[in-house]
Amino acid sequence: MDFDLTPEQREVWLWAKEFADKEIAPRVEENDRNAQFDFDLLKKIGDQGFFSAVLPSQYGGQEIDYIAYALMTEEIARVCSSTRTLFSVQISLVELPILKYGTEAQKQKYLPKMATGELIGCFGLTEPNAGSDAANQQTTAVQDGDYWVLNGQKTWISNGSIANVAIVIAQADKSKGHKGICAFLVETDTPGFTARQMKHKLGLKSSDTSELFLDNVRVHKDQMLAGYGEGFKVAMFCLDQGRFSVAAGAVGVSQGCVDISTKYAMERQAFGQKIGEFQMIQQMIAEMATECEAGRLLVLRAAHRKNQGIRNTRETSLAKLFCAEAAIKASYNAVQVFGGYGFSEEYPAARYYRDARVLNLYEGTSQIHRMIIAQDELNIRPANGPGSARTPIERFTNPLVSVL
Ligand SMILES: Cc1cc2nc3c(=O)[nH]c(=O)nc-3n(C[C@H](O)[C@H](O)[C@H](O)COP(=O)(O)OP(=O)(O)OC[C@H]3O[C@@H](n4cnc5c(N)ncnc54)[C@H](O)[C@@H]3O)c2cc1C
Repeated sequence: MDFDLTPEQREVWLWAKEFADKEIAPRVEENDRNAQFDFDLLKKIGDQGFFSAVLPSQYGGQEIDYIAYALMTEEIARVCSSTRTLFSVQISLVELPILKYGTEAQKQKYLPKMATGELIGCFGLTEPNAGSDAANQQTTAVQDGDYWVLNGQKTWISNGSIANVAIVIAQADKSKGHKGICAFLVETDTPGFTARQMKHKLGLKSSDTSELFLDNVRVHKDQMLAGYGEGFKVAMFCLDQGRFSVAAGAVGVSQGCVDISTKYAMERQAFGQKIGEFQMIQQMIAEMATECEAGRLLVLRAAHRKNQGIRNTRETSLAKLFCAEAAIKASYNAVQVFGGYGFSEEYPAARYYRDARVLNLYEGTSQIHRMIIAQDELNIRPANGPGSARTPIERFTNPLVSVL
């Protein structure tokens, strides 16, 4: 087991860290206060090549591995969860599914422009009546010659109003259940496609979150992503990728909370001493730091499996559940360390607290992840597929070997 970063991973990490501190941090508070999406920052992220991170070079990508991608995601989230959401959606929920399931023509059409940020993507799965129960899709897809006609509504879609292309999940044959679901690449300027921003959110104020409306949207059959009836499989793949990046982002939130709390604790005085010298403050900081590190290891283990091309639904779920809950707890404790000032928007703890709260809601609530993990442990539904049962030895030696 090697816990060291390669020189390349370290370089990517430092690159993201520098960008987060120099370019994102100075804008965070104003963007949050004004609840505005920052198009100027989007351009900078695109120009830096961040959106090209994991793509192969033939599509304009940098081919960085998943460990470096996790560290980049963490660094962005350490500073701003809204920006991290933009980054995660573009790469994990849209680029990677197109890379995995797209035809060569689809890849050529979208990936190089997504890599530079010229095109922005969004992923439309959730509907007013299909959240955790994602297979209950009400959006319909009806074939009409060479076209599919889409009708329905999506809700809570990150990047929805700023996207140029949306992966839309729709039901083509209700009688087939999830095997009737298809995925489409819908260009958002197609007639009948509209988006409306959702305002007054608890957090992620400078992330664009929107409803999508599809009113007789005609999509050419070449825009189907993967085959007929494979839309649910595509959606689950999207979530496997998205959950990984949310877990990495959650580590960044925990790290951000450690950073602001330790700084404040060594500045603020009470009873004639620094509050950081009180054991009860130290206890909160110790818990934050420990859970942050533990979560980081879970993320990096999932990343390691991704690098090896091994199925990692279980490891990603473990990471997402643990890191999301740890980040929420860390942000709660950060407010506590700041005392009354933690309750003020003049200090960063309040923003971390509001932004962290979404982490165990999107990309699978914590209840859904507990269900995935427990069903795997009980062998009711092995998360990594049949035959993926493990012994302790197998867990820590060769993940490729399946021992029953
Ligand atoms: C800011 C934000 C951004 C988002 N971005 C996107 C996006 O880009 N694309 C997208 O498609 N979606 C997105 N979502 C939607 C998100 O994935 C869903 O909100 C989430 O899956 C939960 O669905 P729901 O809101 O319908 O809650 P519900 O599914 O109605 O859940 C309500 C409660 O019931 C619990 N519950 C449900 N089923 C079970 C069960 N079987 N066992 C135990 N408990 C259960 C849940 O855990 C939860 O506590 C976003 C959401 C938010 C808040």
